[in-house]
Amino acid sequence: MTATLLDGRSAAEEILGAIVGEVSRLDRPPHLAILRVGENEASRCYVERKCATAKRIGIRTTSRVLTASANLEEIIGQIDRWNGDSGIHGILVQMPLPDSAMHGAVFDAIDPKKDVDGFNPHNFGLLAQGRGGGFVPCTPNGIVHLLRRYGIATSGRHVVVIGRSTIVGRPLSLLLQSRGMDATVTQCHSKSENLREIAKSGHILISAAGSPGLVGGDWIGDGAVVVDVGQNFIADPSAPSGKRLVGDVDFAAALDRCSYVTPVPGGVGPLTVAMLMKNVLMARIANGC
Ligand code: NAD
Repeated sequence: MTATLLDGRSAAEEILGAIVGEVSRLDRPPHLAILRVGENEASRCYVERKCATAKRIGIRTTSRVLTASANLEEIIGQIDRWNGDSGIHGILVQMPLPDSAMHGAVFDAIDPKKDVDGFNPHNFGLLAQGRGGGFVPCTPNGIVHLLRRYGIATSGRHVVVIGRSTIVGRPLSLLLQSRGMDATVTQCHSKSENLREIAKSGHILISAAGSPGLVGGDWIGDGAVVVDVGQNFIADPSAPSGKRLVGDVDFAAALDRCSYVTPVPGGVGPLTVAMLMKNVLMARIANGC
């Protein structure tokens, strides 16, 4: 079997094209504020990509970088200033922070109406309760969009999600079991036993562990759908930068076993950015000025 690639780039371009049309009808563009803390190279790349995409589709961005030694007061002070600024429609704090113990307080501090990442407990709670109306985290939303775009049914099917983070695994599991998606979800994590057997039993297998090569060919059931969320940089002396981006899945092995698979890069990543832009547009429309 040779799998069909789930093309995240073209799916993202369709979404972005629709946003351009909507932005052009507004009297003032949506405005996204991005805070980055510390010098994490991957975070810097992600923020640059978000800003470049926003610019391309007419969304304004403001970014601020705090040093890795910034304390919680400084971080929340910046968020509060943006919360109180009616010209800012969406606020994003690039994760992870140098000190992960701050994550909860930072999620709490963002005004739910500007919480375009969907990590504030208000928006997360709406998702957990199966209620609409809140911002849905971008990566899970992008994955669901990609499955729907390729007509991949989830209702009644067994979806195995590897990872339970606030950013990907946990909201993704909630979304997949919500009404309309109706999947039977098994959520796994680093303490799960028999992970290979569980993974193999999934009609759809989604890996968001951040562990290169974790999912080998013998983890994938015949004809399964495989979504690789992992973004891992591994050493590659042949690459100009000396490293290369790979996912969690042994891609070559997956191609032979599954029905559909996301490439890395070009799978989930572009959809994360597109869904962020969609949330910023929603925030602009909902908040008016
Ligand atoms: P995280 O470190 O916060 O969470 C990883 C989760 O995976 C944890 O719940 C952990 O228990 C689980 N895990 C780790 N190793 C495991 C193992 N060997 N077996 C089973 N479970 C294991 O990471 P995150 O923020 O959720 O991100 C996960 C991956 O997804 C990273 O590679 C990240 O770069 C990537 N990511 C990609 C996008 C995108 O747009 N493509 C967006 C966000 C995150």
